[in-house]
This record gives sequence, C-alpha cells and structure tokens, in this order.
Amino acid sequence: MGGKEEEFLKSEVRDVQIPFGGRNFMRLQLYFPLQKPYFITQFFGPSQLPIYKQLGMLGHNGLDCASPRGKPVLASHDGQVVYAGQDGNEGYGVVIRTLTTFEYNGQEMFFKTLYWHLLANIPVRVGQRVRIGDIVGYADSTGLSTGDHLHFGLKPQYQGANEWTWFNAEQNNGYFGGIDPEPYLIKDKRFSNRNTDYMSSYEIKTGLQMLAEDIERLARSISNYLRRIKK
Ligand SMILES: [Zn+2]
Repeated sequence: MGGKEEEFLKSEVRDVQIPFGGRNFMRLQLYFPLQKPYFITQFFGPSQLPIYKQLGMLGHNGLDCASPRGKPVLASHDGQVVYAGQDGNEGYGVVIRTLTTFEYNGQEMFFKTLYWHLLANIPVRVGQRVRIGDIVGYADSTGLSTGDHLHFGLKPQYQGANEWTWFNAEQNNGYFGGIDPEPYLIKDKRFSNRNTDYMSSYEIKTGLQMLAEDIERLARSISNYLRRIKK
C-alpha cells in the first residue's frame, strides 16, 4: 500500500471517546479489510441455511465479501497477530487482536478480528504487530467456502488470569462469540445504506461477474458429472 493511502487510512481513524459511568472509553473503529471495489455477499445475522444448524449456530457470524483470488486482505485496525494458519476444515485464516481496550456494553474489552478462506501463503506470523491497512493475507476460497470471498469476523475478548489466556465475551451467543462488525466500520458513503449507496455500478458489475463465474464453474462440474455417468 502506498504512503498516501496509508496516511489517508490513519486520518480517517480518529480516537473517539465515549463517556460511560463517569469514565471515558475509546470506541473501536474498523477500516474495511479490502480495497475498493468490494461487494458484500452476506451480512451478519440469522439464517435458515442448514449449514449453520449443523455448525450449531443461529446464522452467519461475520461479513462475507466477494473478493477475487489473490486480492490483498488488509488489517482493519492496529494490533497483534494471534493466529495465522489452517483451521479444521483446511481453510486458511488470520486473527488480529487489539493492543488496547475499547468500550463494549459499558465494559472495557479487547477485540479480535478474523479473516478466513485465505490463500495458504500468509505474509504475517503469530506475535507480529500490524498497523491498520497492512496486508495480512490474500483472498481465496479455502475451507468451508463455495467461491472466492473473504469472511470478516469480530469478537469482543477479555483476558484471563494469565497473559496467554483469553476468552470470548459472547461465546454462547449462538455465533461462537462473533458480533456484527458493521456498526464498527468507519462510516462513509459505502455504509450509509445497506442496499445500494456503497455499491457503485462498477462494484455491482464485479459482483455479477463473480456470480457468472460461479455459474460457469457449476455448469462445468455438472457437465463433467454427466459425462462420467454416461460411461
Ligand atoms: Zn462468512
């Protein structure tokens, strides 16, 4: 990322103080983890899809953003890499935790952000400090995923008795501790309206193109299957 862009990111993220119970808390602010154009394919929230029931969840626990293979994934805040590697479903991901606490339901909490379905060559390692806008991975479709996209998640965390013990504040909320990242994203035109405002016609076209590619892939696998069963 160029110097100018980086400066722009930092100027967007200003400290915001929230008075609460006679104290001032900082408000967590996240930068969108992809450069434009991006296209949100699934928001956080309840879903009837059977996959979530199988996973023991109420619905989708993050934001899904269509993102072509290899597109850089950016740290949405300053922090430390606390996970970089493979999950149980052969998906690659990175987790970054904030270095300081922020307000969450009237309490001081750390937060971690999660980035999944990445390419295997992850450019950061556990323990590394990252700044907002740093490249932490590249989009792909590894793990439980049907097409190239980034899954972006957010979980409030608190520390246990030891430096290395951490707990999700909302672990039993039906989303494995995940909360909706959208209210924490730095507001600009992209998020003033969930449906249209943040999508330029170029972004819609990119989204449609990705859908077309998915359909093409599906058509190919159906024709392969038909060819196989004819033999
Ligand atoms: Zn997702």
